[in-house]
Amino acid sequence: MAVRAIRLFGDPVLRTPTPEVTDFGPDLHRLVDDMFETMDTHHGAGLAAPQVGVSTRVFVFDCGGRRGHVVNPVWTAVDDETQTGPEGCLSIPGVQAACTRAARVRVHGVDRDGAPLSMEVDGILARAVQHETDHLDGVLFPQRLSPQARRAAMRVVRESDWFVAGETVTDTPRGGRAVWVGDGQPAVDTAEALR
Ligand SMILES: [Zn+2]
Repeated sequence: MAVRAIRLFGDPVLRTPTPEVTDFGPDLHRLVDDMFETMDTHHGAGLAAPQVGVSTRVFVFDCGGRRGHVVNPVWTAVDDETQTGPEGCLSIPGVQAACTRAARVRVHGVDRDGAPLSMEVDGILARAVQHETDHLDGVLFPQRLSPQARRAAMRVVRESDWFVAGETVTDTPRGGRAVWVGDGQPAVDTAEALR
């Protein structure tokens, strides 16, 4: 296994919708192993393949008391209820904001051997499923924020020392305090934030 470099905001791979996995061979197994190790190294709650520069439909997660991976995920909301919680992203270090997501989702997909899997999840894991599936569609969490919070997030990104406009950046995230860009104070402890 190996820790792979995290792609950061500005890298085109993060804005590119990914094709479905069709080859369940050793490369996919290695990718999933490496994604787990990379997520753990950076203490993430989830990680999607484009974040390590691989444009394919896979994510891993470790939050809400569960750990696993989903290949070719498709989620649907269980009902109309929503939840709002602090959200960040390993590809956008230093930015956190309150993001509204579906409260409960059912996710279908397959595992790395191609065996079908499905689960119904809520709380932070439901947020992770939506956040990571967004990555596979080339969508980053600031696009899910209010226009005001999104502008604030982009301001923090532009002023970050890791951000180089228009260039591919393959540095790894740094530690330090995240900047809260939402309206008002975080509703819950940001240490519990999805990232
Ligand atoms: Zn992310």
